[in-house]
Amino acid sequence: CGIVGVTGNKDAVSILIGGLKRLEYRGYDSAGIYVNDQNGHDYLVKRPGRISELEAAITPDVHGSAGIGHTRWATHGVPNEANAHPQYSKDDRFYVVHNGVIENYQQLKDQYLENYPFKSQTDTEVLVALVDKFVVEYKMDTKSALLKMLRLISPDSSYAMVLMDRKQPDTLFVAKNKSPLLIGVCDGYNMVGSDALSMLKQTNRFMELEDHELVIVKPDNISIEDFDGNIKHRDTFTVDMD
Ligand code: GLU
Repeated sequence: CGIVGVTGNKDAVSILIGGLKRLEYRGYDSAGIYVNDQNGHDYLVKRPGRISELEAAITPDVHGSAGIGHTRWATHGVPNEANAHPQYSKDDRFYVVHNGVIENYQQLKDQYLENYPFKSQTDTEVLVALVDKFVVEYKMDTKSALLKMLRLISPDSSYAMVLMDRKQPDTLFVAKNKSPLLIGVCDGYNMVGSDALSMLKQTNRFMELEDHELVIVKPDNISIEDFDGNIKHRDTFTVDMD
């Protein structure tokens, strides 16, 4: 399973598909992408099966300069289109890709989301549903809602996740715990991926992430903070292409 994301490059679709293909070796049962063109158009394409089947389902109108891609190894819910990622909120505003397991998802569902119209059997959908609830009902901004959601996830859970908000379509909200995730620093744009290989075609400059950090990735900026809002500094490192 794996994750790739990009912001600030109008070839987002092909970058995501290329990245997902380089993550195929990790194993998966379904795949999907979400892209946004920064002009009010966005596209979600998901398929059970091979990346080639996902690729075949991507019609020529699907385009964007920011997006997220996912290969899924099902843990909660069978491999089908509804359970494939990106998972999204009921109003089609928030999109998330996630690798790992949210151990307390049922508890979070019972506590906060009793009447929520879930579309999938995944633990992952709880994550976008919570952000949506905190933004819509509690009137929180997206970053605060996301931090609240991240703090509610039990520490025994594992996740690498990237969330997008249609209302801030050039921004990737990134967090991890126990699952791998790296930032790729590119020339005029930025990426995120499960490993360096998924981004090596675009860059050899990376930033390591620690557990329990929120990373906000924009085309020209990367900021990292802990869950209490303290800014963290991070140097980049270079991977030798040979
Ligand atoms: N637990 C999530 C699901 O079943 C993510 C699985 C994965 O790591 O790909 O959808």
